[in-house]
Amino acid sequence: ENGDDDVTLKILYCGVCHSDLHTLRNDWGFSFYPVVPGHEISGVVTKVGKNVTKFNIGDRVGVGVLVGSCKTCECCEQDLENYCPRIIFTYNSYNPDGTKNYGGYSDTIVVDQRYVLRFPDNLPLDAGAPLLCAGITVYSPMKYYGMTEAGKHLGVAGLGGLGHVAVKIGKAFGLKVTVISSSPQKESEAINRLGADSFLVSNDPEKMKSAIGTMDYIIDTVSAVHPLLPLLSLLKVNGKLVTVGLPNKPLELPVFPLVMGRKLIGGSDVGGMKETQEMLDFCAKHNITADIELIRIEEINTAMERLAKSDVRYRFVIDVANSLSQ
Ligand code: NAP
Ligand code: ZN
Repeated sequence: ENGDDDVTLKILYCGVCHSDLHTLRNDWGFSFYPVVPGHEISGVVTKVGKNVTKFNIGDRVGVGVLVGSCKTCECCEQDLENYCPRIIFTYNSYNPDGTKNYGGYSDTIVVDQRYVLRFPDNLPLDAGAPLLCAGITVYSPMKYYGMTEAGKHLGVAGLGGLGHVAVKIGKAFGLKVTVISSSPQKESEAINRLGADSFLVSNDPEKMKSAIGTMDYIIDTVSAVHPLLPLLSLLKVNGKLVTVGLPNKPLELPVFPLVMGRKLIGGSDVGGMKETQEMLDFCAKHNITADIELIRIEEINTAMERLAKSDVRYRFVIDVANSLSQ
């Protein structure tokens, strides 16, 4: 039911995030089956409650990783709903009344207006949908950790959904961007299609050695357990590495390079609603969208198998309306 503060969306598209795959496989140990994943949701408004002032029927909107929070804590008051201790995720989560939430691999969703985003007119609903998770997850730490100074050198570890958007956003901030990848076959696309300045193969010791101490910032989007030492070595003195990837096991922290180079490691989890809207507007202004492979829902199992093998260019998006319509 659409409550007084709620907006109902007809879902048109939903991106396929690696977090969906982690959840389906119970990688993190807190999957509450049955799960309907999907937190890169775009569509149009079909219904609004009587208190809804932000949206009208027919508006182009999106829903990302969260659909609720307490609205009163320090985090919520600072537009950091994403760090609210009572955050309600879009799927694999429960509401205070005990009902369960299901995500965007479906044709409709009802969400409190506070957690609904407006799509700028020139942002397409299909290639724009992944920005709602992948986009904000890389944009927010770049802003918070001061990784936006034009001319500085950003390394992006892992060229998947998050990584390829990080390349584009980094370039929009005027950074020099180097991709650090385990997939040598992605090199020419990274440079010619995505706009990266250079490309390092993480398991090529010669190339990695030549780049030691050259980077100001690194965003680590790798979804699996991997060594941090090679990445920390790429940083200059005072360099910052922000990890946003969520492998299922802890990473080993090499303290020597941290201490000897006054380096910093941080983390970051999506972004608050205000910043997510800011990011969508920023991407619309700079013509940034995800590079997508549009699939029908029938193809989701194959897509998940490919995602597990880092074989996606660079985000699967489900064409929900054309898959689930009669
Ligand atoms: P993705 O599209 O699968 O991209 C991850 C990339 O990591 C792959 O394309 C691959 O890039 C690299 N990689 C994968 N396995 C690897 C391995 N064993 N060794 C080295 N590199 C490997 O995933 P995504 O959707 O971008 O998500 C990335 C991670 O971020 C996931 O863990 C996800 O759960 C997490 N996440 C976090 C947040 C947050 O708020 N912090 C939000 C969304 C997602 P190369 O082929 O270039 O090596
Ligand atoms: Zn996600």
